[in-house]
Amino acid sequence: MPNPRKKIRIRGLPRGARLLHDPAFNKGTAFTEAERDALGLRGLLPPNAHTQEEQVLRVMTNYRKKTDDLEKYIHLIALQDRNETLFYRVVLDHIEEMMPIIYTPTVGKACQEYGHIFRRPRGLYISARDRGRMVQVLRNWPYRRPRIIVVTDGERILGLGDLGAFGMGIPVGKLSLYTACAGVAPSLCLPITLDVGTNNETLLQDPLYTGLRQHRLRGDAYDAMIDEFIRAVQKVFPKVLVQFEDFANVNAFRLLHRYQDRICTFNDDIQGTASVTLAGIYSALRIAGGRLRDQTILFLGAGEAGIGIGDLIVAALQDEGMSLAEARRRCWFVDSKGLVVRGRDHLAEHKLPYAHEHPFCPDLASAIQTLRPTVLIGVSGMPRSFAQPIVETMARINPRPVIFALSNPTSKAECTAQEAYSWSEGRAIFASGSPFEPVTCLGQRFVPGQGNNAYIFPGVGLGVIAVESRRVTDRMFFAAARALAQQVLPADLEQGRIFPALSRIRDVSAHIAAAVAEVAYEQKHAVKRRPADLLAFMRAQMYEPDYLPYVG
Ligand code: NAD
Repeated sequence: MPNPRKKIRIRGLPRGARLLHDPAFNKGTAFTEAERDALGLRGLLPPNAHTQEEQVLRVMTNYRKKTDDLEKYIHLIALQDRNETLFYRVVLDHIEEMMPIIYTPTVGKACQEYGHIFRRPRGLYISARDRGRMVQVLRNWPYRRPRIIVVTDGERILGLGDLGAFGMGIPVGKLSLYTACAGVAPSLCLPITLDVGTNNETLLQDPLYTGLRQHRLRGDAYDAMIDEFIRAVQKVFPKVLVQFEDFANVNAFRLLHRYQDRICTFNDDIQGTASVTLAGIYSALRIAGGRLRDQTILFLGAGEAGIGIGDLIVAALQDEGMSLAEARRRCWFVDSKGLVVRGRDHLAEHKLPYAHEHPFCPDLASAIQTLRPTVLIGVSGMPRSFAQPIVETMARINPRPVIFALSNPTSKAECTAQEAYSWSEGRAIFASGSPFEPVTCLGQRFVPGQGNNAYIFPGVGLGVIAVESRRVTDRMFFAAARALAQQVLPADLEQGRIFPALSRIRDVSAHIAAAVAEVAYEQKHAVKRRPADLLAFMRAQMYEPDYLPYVG
């Protein structure tokens, strides 16, 4: 992977005011005396040159004065628009504090308000009006060789539904995490929103809505637009990895199945979520004891996230030698109509593999009583659906019930950390989708884990692009899950924490990238010659948000 910043430096920088307005190269008050002279900056900046540390101090002082999370988000995006290096320095050095702002939950709020808080455009918009000329639109992107595209059509933004073109906050946020968490250089990242319209009537009536004022394309017209997009991407950026993000499940599974064996692509809501959750289960079993093959896993919610997790668990169990049928019977699903069982009317296709021969249960409580699950996973987007009797029953059945409330944002979580620990007398092994503060229960302090996809996708993406893998496979995702679980320290587990501290994310991502690359070589998808030490190679690829000297 080339280091794009070094190359551009050799080719020549913009000068003067243009340099100060180019976020990729701007250093603000940190330009040195020599740089100010050589680059026509003298007089355009206040005389006292600051260090990057002093600049970070200024940003953080202002940031912490803001009491509203959306204001913090706006503050950070404005910094990203002015000085990218400083933005990533700030984010990387304060990752635990910033993650809930640049990603869930605040990014959800930002998307809801995207046209209202709009300052400068970021990313590439390709709308239904651009059909027939997508190659041209892609060529308008100012960076020549992006290696990762995150693309959304805005139909299912987090748990918030159809936000149309306001969904751009998601690819922008995800790609910021690629850079912060795995050191993928910003110029290699391309956020894209496919504006196929929206069915959100509130947005269609909103004078500040930034997208097309039309209902969503469906059927053949939609598929043809996606197809043109994929073909255009392959033509203009042939080595790029395409990550699908926040598509509604009617399209997400179809598109994944259509393209995963043809191009270098994955769907983070399906495969990334699955991998981080599988990692959480592996870690939880380090506390609870037992093997994956002996678990009964019950999901509330049978959408993209739930079925994606089920499919990866099945793949991992098959890898351990279990038959497909046996592996599927380890996973059970309750959706809005009750337990998914054979013979139920009008089951969506993606649920059919999990429609087991079993008497129907009308709700979660009766399904728990009957199936006696060891692991309960909430991916329903239904707040408070793990009510007290649900958690208490799980705690009655299991000495250490594993309870994951993964729905985002926080307001949608199936239960809070406090509820999970107190209703289970401190025995639950809990993880959530959005962050919760540590909890003290019966005199013990618990640090709830966040099953954040940011643990997985940046490392997977880095591994894939660094060795130029032509495909992204399921095996890579369970290799990533194992690598992540191995990064959880005994000290973490003692506090009930089943994911590593985010402050270690760069190192964690390097291990995941190496594990993914290993699979790429085993499966013969990697094009690049194999480096002797994959872990050292991944570490060496990482972008560091330090100022490069432009002069001398
Ligand atoms: P989805 O719309 O594809 O699926 C939601 C599912 O929940 C559907 O099967 C629906 O039938 C079911 N459901 C709705 N109401 C229900 C009810 N009352 N009882 C039982 N089931 C009900 O959405 P998704 O992509 O699967 O995401 C679901 C949730 O998981 C969202 O809140 C999302 O934010 C969260 N999620 C979390 C992570 C993470 O933490 N890493 C990752 C992805 C998604």
